[in-house]
Amino acid sequence: MQLLDGKVVSAKIKEDIKQEAAEFLKETGRKPHLVAILVGNDGGSETYVASKMRNCEMVGFDSTNIRYGVEITEAELIAKIKEINTDASIDGLIVQLPLPPHINPDKITEAIDYRKDVDGFHPVNLGRMQRNLPCFVPATPYGIMLMLDHYNIETAGKKAVIVGRSNIVGSPMSILLARNTQPGNCTVTITHSRTQNLREEVLQGDIIVAAIGKKNFVTADMIKDGAVVIDVGINRETSTETKSGFKLYGDVDFEHVAPKTSWITPVPGGVGLMTIIGLLKNTLEAAKGTIYKD
Ligand code: NDP
Repeated sequence: MQLLDGKVVSAKIKEDIKQEAAEFLKETGRKPHLVAILVGNDGGSETYVASKMRNCEMVGFDSTNIRYGVEITEAELIAKIKEINTDASIDGLIVQLPLPPHINPDKITEAIDYRKDVDGFHPVNLGRMQRNLPCFVPATPYGIMLMLDHYNIETAGKKAVIVGRSNIVGSPMSILLARNTQPGNCTVTITHSRTQNLREEVLQGDIIVAAIGKKNFVTADMIKDGAVVIDVGINRETSTETKSGFKLYGDVDFEHVAPKTSWITPVPGGVGLMTIIGLLKNTLEAAKGTIYKD
C-alpha cells in the first residue's frame, strides 16, 4: 500500500501557482482575487472558508471573506452576487454551501457569472465539462485528477466505481474518469443510495471514489486486492483528543481497507488539500482569462 499524499502533491503544485501569481502581479500590477461568501455559522463551513482564504494568502492571491447572518434573504444575496459579477477587481467568487433552507442553492449558483464561477458549479461550466470544452472543473474532482496525474496512476481501461452521485463530486468525477484522457479512459460505474448489491459493484472496482458522507461506509470486504481508493468523505466528530475539539474521518474504513489497496488517500491529508488546489488553479485561470477570454 502506498499513500496518495495530499500534503506532498498540494505543496508542490502550490509552489507552481505561487510563481504564476507572482508573474501575473508583475505583468498586471495586481494579484488574482478570490471572494468567498459565507452565510451563517456552520462550523465546517467556517473551517473550509478560513482554509481557502489562508491558502490564497500563501500563494500571493488577494482574498475577501464576506459574511452574512442566516437572516439574509435570497434576493439580498443575489443582489450582492450581481454586484461582484461586475466588479473587475474580483476574479473568482464562491458561495460556501450548505446555505440556510430559505435560500435555493441552484438560484445562487446560477446567479454567479460563469466566468467567475471558480467552484465550477454553474450549469455553463458543468455543460462545457461534459463536452470536454475549456471550463472551470469543480474543485474536488479537479484536485483528484491532479493527484492521479501526479502519481502517474494508470487508469486507462480500468473499472472505476464511484459511490455517490452529487453534482459537486460523484457526477463530475464520473465524467472526468470516463474521458479520453490520462487520467481517464476508465469504464465507470456510478452508484448511490438506490443501487442494489452495492458491495458487489464496489468489489469490481480497480479504482474506487467514495463520496458519501458516512464515516467508515466503505469496508475491507468491499475492496478488491490492489485497488486504488480515493476517499472524499469529510465527517466531523467532536473529540477531546484534538486542540480544535473535533476529529475528521473519511468515508473509508482506512485501517482495514488500506492493507488491501495499491494506493489510498488518507483523511485528513488527502482529497481535502487537493480541493484547495483545484480552487486556486481555477482562480488563477479566471484572473489570467485563459478559459474565458472576454
Ligand atoms: P451528498 O450528500 O451531496 O451526496 C452523497 C451521495 O452519497 C449521494 O449521491 C447519496 O445517494 C450517496 N449515498 C448516501 N447514502 C448512501 C448509501 N447508503 N449507499 C450508497 N450511496 C449513498 O455529498 P457530497 O458529494 O457533497 O459529499 C460527500 C462527502 O464528501 C461528504 O462527507 C462531504 O463532506 C465530503 N466532501 C469533501 C470534499 C473535500 O474537499 N474532501 C469536498 C466536497 C465534499 P443519493 O443520491 O441516492 O441520495
